[in-house]
Amino acid sequence: MSIQLYNTLTRKKEKFEPIEPNKVKMYVCGPTVYNYIHIGNARPAIVFDTIRRYLEFRGYDVQYVSNFTDVDDKLIKAAKELGEDVPTIAERFIQAYFEDVSALGCKKADVHPRVTESIDIIIEFIEQLIKKGYAYEVNGDVYYRTRAFAEYGKLSHQSIDELRAGARIEIGEKKQDPLDFALWKAAKEGEISWDSPWGKGRPGWHIECSAMARKYLGDTIDIHAGGQDLTFPHHENEIAQSEALTGKTFAKYWMHNGYININNEKMSKSLGNFVLVHDIIKQIDPQVLRFFMLSVHYRHPINYSQELLESTKNGLERLKTSYFNLKHRLSSSTNLTHDDEQWLNEIQEYHHAFIQEMDDDFNTANAIAVLFELSKQANLYLLEQNTSEKVIKAFLHEFEQLFGVLGIVFQENVLLDEEIEALIQKRNDARKNRDFALADQIRDELKAKNIILEDTPQGTRWKRG
Ligand SMILES: [Zn+2]
Repeated sequence: MSIQLYNTLTRKKEKFEPIEPNKVKMYVCGPTVYNYIHIGNARPAIVFDTIRRYLEFRGYDVQYVSNFTDVDDKLIKAAKELGEDVPTIAERFIQAYFEDVSALGCKKADVHPRVTESIDIIIEFIEQLIKKGYAYEVNGDVYYRTRAFAEYGKLSHQSIDELRAGARIEIGEKKQDPLDFALWKAAKEGEISWDSPWGKGRPGWHIECSAMARKYLGDTIDIHAGGQDLTFPHHENEIAQSEALTGKTFAKYWMHNGYININNEKMSKSLGNFVLVHDIIKQIDPQVLRFFMLSVHYRHPINYSQELLESTKNGLERLKTSYFNLKHRLSSSTNLTHDDEQWLNEIQEYHHAFIQEMDDDFNTANAIAVLFELSKQANLYLLEQNTSEKVIKAFLHEFEQLFGVLGIVFQENVLLDEEIEALIQKRNDARKNRDFALADQIRDELKAKNIILEDTPQGTRWKRG
């Protein structure tokens, strides 16, 4: 059994064979930090975090690098508008990014390199490209000579001629060919800049990933990933830069996640339907958003709507309830039941089915369907009069392990009905004993878990808030 993954480069599912056995070098293009991330940025963060977790679960040692673009046109524009400097804005949104994605259950990368801390390696990279004839300087700008790289277009499956037909030279650009792209941009008056052999300036966008990936992961990496919109020109340009410099394959596998639509419309600034993660996770449990993103195969488009989120929330709630019912039953289970083997075998089958789905190009949608089946079996088992500790533990282990691969952790914020009743009884006893402090404490504890109490002449009633 091996992992198969879809490679944008070959447009085929391929057997995953990393360069070094058991080691995976993975580079995921990160955000430009001029604002809070929107849910379109959250998708690659969640998808590739899950793929990383799955590779680790399958025994690989994963080295994961994801960059921050902390200087570019958008940041310079934002700095002007806000009357702040670029590093202040970048720092603020890097911290906000960490807060948002950690709420979404994403682990930190092994390295999060920033452009402003990588200027020396970027300059060195560009100098070598010039030396090899792949780049040229014009009045302080440096451009990549696209026609010098014969394989240009191989990732996005377009020919140089097709591409050239669609490209334009913008006013003020001094490049020789419309397809050439900037490696270094001369500083305009008052802009943030660094000294270079070509005068004061800053890097173009694409060069940072080539330079950072090489520094932290080497000349050839296993998986290079990002949103589908990065395939062209960003990733195409990364290949041109890196492969021209090293003469080696830059990345063995290229993975791209699909778009997000909002209520079946494309998300765009002009339509005003941008959903920021920062805002939305105040309204919905971030785990629900994560689970929602994983409920569709990563290469397919995903439609974001209130109704779909609501049904995801209900689904996740059902799974959680199974899990906590299993936990609750653990204390009253014995080791004296006769049909353990049959149940343990069945649980193993679900375990293998999950792996089979994930091995097939990380099909989280089908893997989640397996988890719903597992939960159904658990519910069925819980109907039995006598349950075995061994079987309950095996169910719990699978829940924890497989949901853990998806980055979903069940927290104890769901109280079962019987636990609520027990707490209410305890509170009534406390009130009878005139221990009002304890009674109030129990009321507050329940309130914190969204359980509202109402004292009536007939006794205490409760409802979920
Ligand atoms: Zn990149």
